[in-house]
Amino acid sequence: MNALPESSSHRASAVLSLLEGLYPDARTELEFKSPFELLVATVLSAQATDKSVNAATPALFSKYPTAFELAQASPEDVEPLIKTIGLYRNKAKNLVGLAIRLVERHGGQVPNDFDAVTALPGAGRKTANVVLSNAFGVAAIAVDTHVGRLSRRLGLSEHTNPDKVERDLQRLFPSERWTFLHHALILHGRRVCLARKPLCGECLIASVCPRIGVA
Ligand code: SF4
Repeated sequence: MNALPESSSHRASAVLSLLEGLYPDARTELEFKSPFELLVATVLSAQATDKSVNAATPALFSKYPTAFELAQASPEDVEPLIKTIGLYRNKAKNLVGLAIRLVERHGGQVPNDFDAVTALPGAGRKTANVVLSNAFGVAAIAVDTHVGRLSRRLGLSEHTNPDKVERDLQRLFPSERWTFLHHALILHGRRVCLARKPLCGECLIASVCPRIGVA
C-alpha cells in the first residue's frame, strides 16, 4: 500500500521532531467559540487569509450567532458583512445554504461526522478535516496550499492532488500528531517556506529538507 520509500519515514520523523521544537503551540489562527463559528470561518477562509476572516467574523457572529439565525437570512443580508473577503457572494450563498441544512438535518448543530460535513454547501474535504480536528479533536490532516507545497518540497509526497497528499502524510505520521502537523506546516509555509521565495537560508528544518522543486 505504501509506495513511499523508507527514507521518507525517517525524514518524516526528523521533520516532526524539528517542527515540534519550532511550533510547540501550533493551532489554527482562525478565531471561533463554537463548532458552528469554526465551520463558518473555515468556509470563509477558502482562497482568503485567516486575518481577513477574523476581521469580518465578529460582526457576522454577533448578528448570526447560530445556524438558526443564519438560516433565516438571505445571501444579500450576509454579503455586506463579508464583502472584504474574496468570493463573498458565493460564500454568502453557501453560508445560508449550510445553515439551512444544519437546521433541517442536524438540529442546528455541526455534526461530528466527515460525510455529513462534506455534504454541506461550500464545505469540502479540507473544511471537514479542519472542523473535525479543531472542534471535535478528531485526528485529521487538512491539506491546503501550504501543506501540499511543503509536503512536496520535503519529499513527503510527490502528489499535487490534496487527497493523495493527505493519504501520504497519514501513512508517514502517527495519527495523534496529524492535527499538530498540519498546523505546523501551515505556520512554516507562511513564515519561512514561502511559495515564491522560500527562505531556505533561514530555515531551521533545512538540515532534513531535500528541497525538491526549489530552484
Ligand atoms: S529548506 Fe527551504 S524548501 Fe525546505 S522547508 Fe526550509 S524553506 Fe522550505
